[in-house]
Amino acid sequence: MRTLLRWAGDDPDREGLRDTPKRVTRGYEEWFSGYATDPVSLLERTFEETDGYDEIVLLRDIRVESHCEHHLRPIIGRAHVAYLPGTRVVGISKLARVVDAYAKRLQIQEKLTAQIANTIQDVLQPRGVAVVIEAAHQCMTTRGVHKSEVAMVTSRMLGAFRDNGETRREFLTMIGRTSV
Ligand SMILES: [Zn+2]
Repeated sequence: MRTLLRWAGDDPDREGLRDTPKRVTRGYEEWFSGYATDPVSLLERTFEETDGYDEIVLLRDIRVESHCEHHLRPIIGRAHVAYLPGTRVVGISKLARVVDAYAKRLQIQEKLTAQIANTIQDVLQPRGVAVVIEAAHQCMTTRGVHKSEVAMVTSRMLGAFRDNGETRREFLTMIGRTSV
């Protein structure tokens, strides 16, 4: 960190910068805390008393804060995570925590989207999973091509959301989109 500060043209020993490496390190501990979380274990506690509920369960507009592994710049956006329960459901906050567990790592948005969907499918074994992420990449908005208004949209559909057009459309309507 001190090397980078010097390389930028400044003096890492001046008062304002003296503690900057320490502060950045604390930031890193938070931004990359996902490596210490096991997403699988988050989903292992499930509930079966659902009175036969078999419609889509959706958690919409989950704030996503991640970092692009190519430029170490923030990726900020939102995720929509849905599943079609089999015999079990999971505490709804756990879906948001799975998003965080993968987002708080070095990422590319495509992989983040796939990891969330795949883990929910593997552990919960529902009839389907849908994940859509819309996010702005600061490596694109604040540097490089400087396109400040663009959002990248990625999706991963599994099971019924992939195979059944009606289920897929219902999900897209629920998140306010006609397509991804
Ligand atoms: Zn990037």
